[in-house]
Amino acid sequence: MQNFSCKPVPELVPELTEGCAPRCRGKDMSAPLIACENLVKIYKVADLEVVALQGLDLDVQAGEMVAVMGASGSGKSTQLNILSGLDSPSAGRCVVANYDVTQLTPAQRLRYRRHVVGYVWQQSGRNLIASYTVAQNLDVPLWAGAITGKAARRRISELLEGIGLAGTEEKYPAQLSGGEQQRVSLAVAVAHRPAVLLADEPTGELDSATARQIIQLIRQFQQQSNLTVIVVTHDVAVAAMADRVVALRDGRTSTETVRRAAWDGNALDDEQFAQAALTAATHDELIVVDRVGRLQLPRDVVEALGISGRVNLHRAADHVELWPYHPAPQPKEEVQ
Ligand code: ADP
Ligand code: MG
Repeated sequence: MQNFSCKPVPELVPELTEGCAPRCRGKDMSAPLIACENLVKIYKVADLEVVALQGLDLDVQAGEMVAVMGASGSGKSTQLNILSGLDSPSAGRCVVANYDVTQLTPAQRLRYRRHVVGYVWQQSGRNLIASYTVAQNLDVPLWAGAITGKAARRRISELLEGIGLAGTEEKYPAQLSGGEQQRVSLAVAVAHRPAVLLADEPTGELDSATARQIIQLIRQFQQQSNLTVIVVTHDVAVAAMADRVVALRDGRTSTETVRRAAWDGNALDDEQFAQAALTAATHDELIVVDRVGRLQLPRDVVEALGISGRVNLHRAADHVELWPYHPAPQPKEEVQ
């Protein structure tokens, strides 16, 4: 049995061991690989302040695949930008694989981005360098991760085989279809064997069949190397492939939908994928109570029960009930 240490990943030589996530799992197996606490992000635009995250908590275990859903503007990309080390929060704490990403020095940020995380964006134009061949694109993260020469060439062939694009080393992105480009983008994101893969709507511009290929490849990489994955998506079928779906509302986690059974590892066909859903038969939808006891009630419940402002809380032995608050009418004073 290998003796994994809990040191930050960059202190280890990437070529020497397979996969990076297991190295990040140290003595405390219950500690999450990603732990974000009370993240706040405020963007200042001229005199206006936009609150993109307002006290977001998120824990993700090593090897877990989490989908993040939410209306446009709910803070999904902001959260991913913070996790990728591209942006800093205005307040709060976020630790990823022993790196506090809210307090990285420039040198640590560089190491973190080169070794710990890989990312895929929606537009493959943002993922790949158009003037580089497929092999050169794959070589960028390998070189940054100090994987060169024979080891790099071996890794490039292995990756291209893994995504079903063996022999495309000398092609340029423009010579590939949109789906093929996104497969290469995914290979670039995992080439240096990061502990964490962050994907922001990676299937947003793809048809359902191609989206299925991408998400299944992500699942495959995740299973092979115990990769921890956070994927932002609007597609319920993509979310249904995850272990857990976190819904953001107004910059906070509102609900979590958890798979009842672990993914069986079987590939879905196009029809099964198109019908995949987060139903009560396969998933449990739960409301998230944050560290200080706050929760968000689902909007339909709030509207249907006319809950607003204050509620009455009835505490029972093992549960609580919330009742809409209707103040008792005051007796009218007798007019003399
Ligand atoms: P999502 O990815 O869920 O659509 P974002 O994280 O992109 O949401 O945005 C959350 C909020 O923050 C939105 O109101 C958006 O307009 C605002 N926002 C995001 N990035 C910036 C920025 N660079 N400057 C100003 N406001 C921003
Ligand atoms: Mg976004």
